[in-house]
Amino acid sequence: MQLERILQKHGFGTRKGCRSLIRHERVAINGQVCDDPFAEIPTEGLIFTVDGVDWPYLEHASLMLNKPVGYECSRKPKHHQGVLELLPVPLREREVQPIGRLDEDTTGLLLITNDGQLNHALSSAKRKVPKVYLATTKHPLDQAQIDQLLGGVLLNDEPEPIVAAGAEIAGANLLRLTVTEGKYHQVKRMVAATGNRVEALHREAVGELRLPDDLKPGEWRWLTPADLQKLG
Ligand code: URA
Repeated sequence: MQLERILQKHGFGTRKGCRSLIRHERVAINGQVCDDPFAEIPTEGLIFTVDGVDWPYLEHASLMLNKPVGYECSRKPKHHQGVLELLPVPLREREVQPIGRLDEDTTGLLLITNDGQLNHALSSAKRKVPKVYLATTKHPLDQAQIDQLLGGVLLNDEPEPIVAAGAEIAGANLLRLTVTEGKYHQVKRMVAATGNRVEALHREAVGELRLPDDLKPGEWRWLTPADLQKLG
């Protein structure tokens, strides 16, 4: 594929803008500056460099972010910064969006993609993808609360009780809760239904994919083929 087209496809601006980047020797292939916008570059396994930053050639942009507190997941955030502002501009230009939403005060694993199929597959109610949360609760937890969560709790706008796919006490005020739906404020409302209250919420995993320990709040990384496999 022509180098100019590769850059454009990866969010580096208009064709004209990409051509200018290339002509100004800001782009390298395999460590070698390439100043020919029309150079034909094999895309298989390609890593290109723009202003010293490496970019893998990817049909779709899919990544994981360790969401910090204070960011909204909606496309048009109202009260806080949007979570997409944590990403570099070329990525945002590729029109990535979060898969599902975490509340402004929730931290942890957020998947972001421009792959409609992946987004749909993971959001689909039918697939019942498990999401694992660690909730810090206001009151100490007891087995009765766990039993309630595992037996199903009734939320005000739901006709049927919502049953946790997993619930365990992880500390005096720490609950590990697995849910397979993605309803509005679901974890907070489920915990409230047991007479307790969520004071802090963190998502540890989606499906088999866990938030890596070394990904700090606000940091992101590409989803690898192995990660994508874990997501089914
Ligand atoms: N459940 C909640 O209550 N909040 C989240 O951010 C995610 C799940």
